[in-house]
Amino acid sequence: MPWWRRIAESLRRLFALESKRYLCDTCKYDYGNACTRRERPNALQCPDYKRK
Ligand code: SF4
Repeated sequence: MPWWRRIAESLRRLFALESKRYLCDTCKYDYGNACTRRERPNALQCPDYKRK
């Protein structure tokens, strides 16, 4: 992912509305290479989601 995309993503996540929380933020697979889904880190729906 290019640097400008990372910054844009960070800002977007920082200012994301409470109603649009990403599942990955609370998912136990959101570390290292535990999850390789394309939705990560902005999944709104995910069949593999497991709460931390
Ligand atoms: S399993 Fe789903 S919710 Fe969890 S980190 Fe991966 S994409 Fe996100």
